[in-house]
Amino acid sequence: MTTTLEDCRALDAQDPLRALRDQFTLPDGVIYLDGNSLGVLPKAAPARIAEVVAKEWGEGLIRSWNTASWFDLPQRLGDKVARLVGAAPGEVVCTDSTSVNLYKVLFAALSQQKNSGRKLVVSERSNFPTDLYIAESLCRERGFTLQLIEADELPGALTDEVAVLMLTHVNYRTGAMHDMKAITAAAHEAGALAVWDLAHSAGAVPVALNEAEADYAIGCGYKYLNGGPGAPAFAWVHTRHAGRFEQPLSGWWGHAAPFEFTPHYRPAPGVARYLCGTQPIVSLSALECGLDTVLAAEPFDGERGGMGALRAKSLALTDLFIALVEERCAGHGLSLVTPREHARRGSQVCLSRDEGAYAIVQALIARNVIGDFRAGDAQMPDILRFGFTPLYLGFEDVWNSVEQLVQVLETGEWRRPEFNRKNAVT
Ligand SMILES: *Cc1c(COP(=O)(O)O)cnc(C)c1O
Repeated sequence: MTTTLEDCRALDAQDPLRALRDQFTLPDGVIYLDGNSLGVLPKAAPARIAEVVAKEWGEGLIRSWNTASWFDLPQRLGDKVARLVGAAPGEVVCTDSTSVNLYKVLFAALSQQKNSGRKLVVSERSNFPTDLYIAESLCRERGFTLQLIEADELPGALTDEVAVLMLTHVNYRTGAMHDMKAITAAAHEAGALAVWDLAHSAGAVPVALNEAEADYAIGCGYKYLNGGPGAPAFAWVHTRHAGRFEQPLSGWWGHAAPFEFTPHYRPAPGVARYLCGTQPIVSLSALECGLDTVLAAEPFDGERGGMGALRAKSLALTDLFIALVEERCAGHGLSLVTPREHARRGSQVCLSRDEGAYAIVQALIARNVIGDFRAGDAQMPDILRFGFTPLYLGFEDVWNSVEQLVQVLETGEWRRPEFNRKNAVT
């Protein structure tokens, strides 16, 4: 049965989460399918940022560390992230970038394994490059070897030489999602620790870090958490390691008593030791506005964090997009890269095409449908990537985005030279 525009409007009319879109400022006419790369602006953020700057900084000055609770911000926001990733209060901090946090947690995991005789760190060849670059240099420095595998080589690759399995839960290029619980169990069975990157999971799919018994996790603040460009990221450590793990960037903010100003480092108990230096208060304040937009789904769910309700809508949106592309773009050379199976799909849909993937994305952007492009290589095709954020996208948006894609393909307008010139940031 084919789906019509009226069907999509009916789905929007029945959507209990529809009003959540009012939390955001989106330019008129734009269909934003790139919330997996940079989330949109929460309406509350400009006023909150102005308040932090003008009142807390401008008037409160240094007193605001206490009077405006600046000092606790990384933990307070961490508790909000915890609701979204199946962690407990006090287990997460918001700080630094994803790359830097990965350095810290991977260092901690490697330190734990340094007397195990195990020398391998296993990751996926298709992992996000910064994760591989950080792992490469840490392995070199700490005497480990990074072994890159394909997803289907798991769990066979988990030999007794593996110290750490480091994976990204939802693949940034394909949208494929790992079974965190099963893979973590397999890693533990093999004697390895499991480090998870949740950059494309936090705020996008339900995550249950404690239930999965994961060891370490990090994630990104500016994607599905809507924290703004370069927002602080987060780090989590399982309580069985808390109080024991080593943090390589032993700055004063991770000290047990920073304001005692003692000459020797004594790590704070628990995850607070992942803080390094003075925190970016303005950026953290913006991130809090983003986190609140996601947590606004909690009342629609009944479950802590509200990710169940968001997930149900996200799957309905991605199912609809896949169905409409297959119905309406048939014969135009597009292939589906993202898994159809719900349990294996994140909150994005990726398509590939032998020719013109970049230019098609550019032509869509010119038509106000903003997705992005990820270059392929010898093993992987070029990808057109569309992220679906149920907080601010509706079913009619899905219809309209496919309608624009149909027109770009049928007119061949993507062949125009202006759509084939590469920008610095794709
Ligand atoms: C987006 C993303 C990052 C980003 O790292 P930054 O330090 O914020 O630049 C890292 N890892 C993965 C898997 C990502 O998707």
